[in-house]
Amino acid sequence: MDFEYKRKNYYKEADEKELKVIFDYAEGYKKFLYTSKTERGATATAKKLCEERGYKPYAFGDKIKAGDKLYFVNRDKNIFIIRVGTKDVAKHGVKIMAAHVDSPRLDLKPNPVFSDGGMAYLKTHYYGGIKKYQWTTIPLALHGVVVLKGGKCMNVCIGEEEGDPIFYISDLLPHLAQEQSAKPLGTAISGENLNALLSCIPDGGDEKDDVKSAALKLLHDKYGITEIDFQTSELCFVPAGKPRDVGLDRALVSGYGHDDKVCAYPEMTALFDSNTQDTVIAVFADKEETGSYGVTGMQSRVILDLIECISRGLGADPVLVRYNSKCVSADVTAAYDPAYSDVYEKRNCSYINCGASLTKYHGARGKNSTNDASAEMVGYLRDAFDDAGVIWQTGELGKIDIGGGGTVAMYIANLGIDTCDMGVPVLSMHAPYEIISKADLYAMHKAMVAFLEK
Ligand code: MN
Ligand code: MN
Repeated sequence: MDFEYKRKNYYKEADEKELKVIFDYAEGYKKFLYTSKTERGATATAKKLCEERGYKPYAFGDKIKAGDKLYFVNRDKNIFIIRVGTKDVAKHGVKIMAAHVDSPRLDLKPNPVFSDGGMAYLKTHYYGGIKKYQWTTIPLALHGVVVLKGGKCMNVCIGEEEGDPIFYISDLLPHLAQEQSAKPLGTAISGENLNALLSCIPDGGDEKDDVKSAALKLLHDKYGITEIDFQTSELCFVPAGKPRDVGLDRALVSGYGHDDKVCAYPEMTALFDSNTQDTVIAVFADKEETGSYGVTGMQSRVILDLIECISRGLGADPVLVRYNSKCVSADVTAAYDPAYSDVYEKRNCSYINCGASLTKYHGARGKNSTNDASAEMVGYLRDAFDDAGVIWQTGELGKIDIGGGGTVAMYIANLGIDTCDMGVPVLSMHAPYEIISKADLYAMHKAMVAFLEK
C-alpha cells in the first residue's frame, strides 16, 4: 500500500518492449506534425488518414447506424472524426476528445507587399500568443490558400521542400542594438517590424518602386496572382522544416505546433485503435489560440448540431445524449523548466516524462474563466487510467497569479457535458520550436484509449 503519492517517470517504468512502442509511435506523430502545421494542413492530413481506414464523409441529415465510421469536415479547418458504437447513446452519451490544430504563427496582412531599402517584404499580423523576438532570424515557410476571382481556391506551400527558398525576418545587429537591448523583452521587437523578405531583384523599368513591381511580376509569373488576391487569401508564415529528435537518447522531439497537435494525434489514434462500443467523437478544433471564436472555433454551434444530428440519426433524445456524455479536452500544459523554476509550484506542476497531465482547472485570478472539472469526473478518469496502466500526472499551469491560460474545455462543459483537461507537457510552449517527450506523447495515446474503453 502506497500511502504517499509519487509521480512516475515513464522512461523508468517502461520495459524494452514498451520503449520500442513509444519510439515507434513518435515516428508516426512526427510525420503527422510535419504535414499539419496549420489547421487546414491538420484537417487534410486527418481526412486522408480517415479515408485510408475506410471512414466516410458525413453530411448533416445523413442516416447513421451502429458501426459507422465517419468524418465531418467543417470549412476545411476543423474536422470531427466519428465512430458510432452499439451502446445506447441516450443512456451512455458520446465520448468526446477535443484538441485544437491551430498554432501561433504570423498571418499575412490583407495588403502585405511593400518595398524599402531595395528589398520587397510581406507584412504580417501575428496570430495567437507569441514572443515576437523568437520569430526573427529563423527559416520560415509560407502556408495557406488564395481564393482567386471566381472562387477557385489555390493551395500555397513554399519553404518545406528540399531546395525551396525560405522566408526570413531580420533583426538588428548587436553592434547597433544598444537601445533595443535595453528595452523590455515584450517591446524590443514590434509587431509592425515582423516583415518577411520576399525578393530584392529590381525589374528593368524606370518605375519609382521597381523592387515591388518586380516582386508582383514574380508572384504573377510563378503563381498567377495579383496584389489584390492577397485580400482574399489566408496565408501565414510558420517555421520551416521537419520535427527533430532532441538529445543523445532521442527521448524528446522538437517541432513547430506541438500545441496542440501533440494531443490531436493521440486522440485520433485512440479513436482508430480502441475497442469500445461507445459512440466517439474526436474533434480537431480551429481558432483556440485566439479565443475559440468564429465558425470553426469551439464556441460555434457546430459541435452541438453534430451531437443533435447523430442523436436523432440513432433515434435518441439529443438532450439525454448530451447530459450523459463525457469529454476530455485534450490540450497541452507547461512542463517544469528548471531555467525558470520561479514561475512553477514544484508540487503542482507537470514534469517531462511523467506521463499525460490531467489539469482540473486552468484560468487566472482565482480560477477565473475556467472549466473546473468535478471530483467525480476526475475520479472517473483516474479509475480509467489506473485500470489500464497509464502513466499520468496532475499539474497546474504555473504558480498562482503569475499568469494563466485557457482551453476549449469550458465551451464543451457549457453544453452540459462533463469535461476535464488533459494533455502532454510542453517545454517552450508557443515558441517556433517546442519540445515534448515521446513517452508523454505515447502516455497520452494510452490515456485516450483508456478513456474510450472505460
Ligand atoms: Mn493549446
Ligand atoms: Mn496554445
